[in-house]
Amino acid sequence: MRDEFDFRCVYCLQRETWGQVTFEFELDHFEPQSLSPQSKLDYQNLVDSCRRCNAVKRDQSVADPFLLLRAPRVSTLPDGSLRAGDSNAQRLIRQLDWNSPRLKSWRVMWLRIVALAKERDSDLFRQLVDFPDNLPDLSRLRPPRNARSEGLLQCRFALRERGELPVEY
Ligand SMILES: [Zn+2]
Repeated sequence: MRDEFDFRCVYCLQRETWGQVTFEFELDHFEPQSLSPQSKLDYQNLVDSCRRCNAVKRDQSVADPFLLLRAPRVSTLPDGSLRAGDSNAQRLIRQLDWNSPRLKSWRVMWLRIVALAKERDSDLFRQLVDFPDNLPDLSRLRPPRNARSEGLLQCRFALRERGELPVEY
């Protein structure tokens, strides 16, 4: 799951490596269990979410962030707020409270950190924009049954082994 979502929150895109790594991410039921109990154990209904987004989303049904949050539909303003060009993306931003004062301040802080690292500390910049060092080798895992074995060759570990993983993302 973490690999499929690039080790970051599907909603706000916070990276695992930008926090304390452990206990900050959860599996979210994209369609809430209260609204779609039949999807409770459906892998396709699970997404990798930071605790904050999962807690704010709660039992809300939200639009697919993959479809709504890509540039140029959504942009970040200098004050850290997100601006969306269409009403569906605006609604998602409101639902997850992404323009709260604390989140705008947090977003500005990270934009400045990444910009400073890019300018003055190439090792830190690489650490901030690269995939985690300890990518899991999914081919070594032994679940009772792997219904998605076709993905093993596309896991981030395998891509890095073949030299096909981008340096930044
Ligand atoms: Zn999040």
